[in-house]
Amino acid sequence: MARKSDDDSVPLCPICGMAMVLVRIDPRVASFSELHTYRCFTCGDVRAIEHENTNYHPAPVQRGSV
Ligand SMILES: [Zn+2]
Repeated sequence: MARKSDDDSVPLCPICGMAMVLVRIDPRVASFSELHTYRCFTCGDVRAIEHENTNYHPAPVQRGSV
């Protein structure tokens, strides 16, 4: 019985399908985007999703250099 979230942009857990909770936002100035870390409190899965927060579209950046 999934509870509807107020925020439609909240991702669903790929493992159990429950709405994930935003637990952290890391501003990424260099790439003009934010890294949103979501956690599923049902199964404990954690996902980091990059969100562009501007209309400006920079060149794609390679992930994994953190
Ligand atoms: Zn889950």
